[in-house]
Amino acid sequence: MIKAGWLPVALGAAGLGYWAAFGQTSQAFGLFPYQATMTERVLALTFDDGPNEPYTSRLLDVLDERRVPATFFAVGRCAERFPSTVRRIVQSGHVLGNHGYHHQFSRYVTEPRQGREIERGQQALIRIAGVAPNLYRPPWLCHWPWVLGGIRTAGLQVVSGRFGHPLEVVQPPASMMARRATRLARPGRILIFHDGFDARGGRRDQSVAAVGPVIDGLTGRGYRFVTVDRLLGVPAYRQ
Ligand SMILES: [Zn+2]
Repeated sequence: MIKAGWLPVALGAAGLGYWAAFGQTSQAFGLFPYQATMTERVLALTFDDGPNEPYTSRLLDVLDERRVPATFFAVGRCAERFPSTVRRIVQSGHVLGNHGYHHQFSRYVTEPRQGREIERGQQALIRIAGVAPNLYRPPWLCHWPWVLGGIRTAGLQVVSGRFGHPLEVVQPPASMMARRATRLARPGRILIFHDGFDARGGRRDQSVAAVGPVIDGLTGRGYRFVTVDRLLGVPAYRQ
């Protein structure tokens, strides 16, 4: 049993361990880019856990109306559910990234299971969209050393980012999320939103409603938007 005096130390160590493995900005186990170093007012908007209809299509309408390119980290089995949405993402000039096949936590605890997640997600996206993503964002931003190693072995570029709103999962009002995401804007930053939840869909109307105001507000402050590959200076797709 841990004596009372040690409790804060144990909690602190657990917190530090969690931050090292799951922190958006933690580089403890290797490079985990969440922004590019630049002074120009350029940002990348990214969307995880989709496609998830009708929300992903509504989001594409918002982006396409404003001619803003974004990066979609799609879950393989969601892509199989909504293949035409995946094709629209690519055809509209957005970039498709890999976000694993199942988005199930148990599959990330061990190798080689997590390596298979990368590969199976990749195969699904190649089959559906005809492109082989170069960008990979691990689910929950889990970047244990073997996860980063597996991504490297697969020859993919790992991508982190900053969460637009920490409570997005419970869908706070769009205005609240838009305010917080706008405050997070810095030159070169990658912002994370979710057009789905895990691989289970779910309502995302507040996220969709937040994105237009974020774009309009930041455009008014002189920002423009690019896809993550361009921000980081790496290819979007593998040959
Ligand atoms: Zn995710």
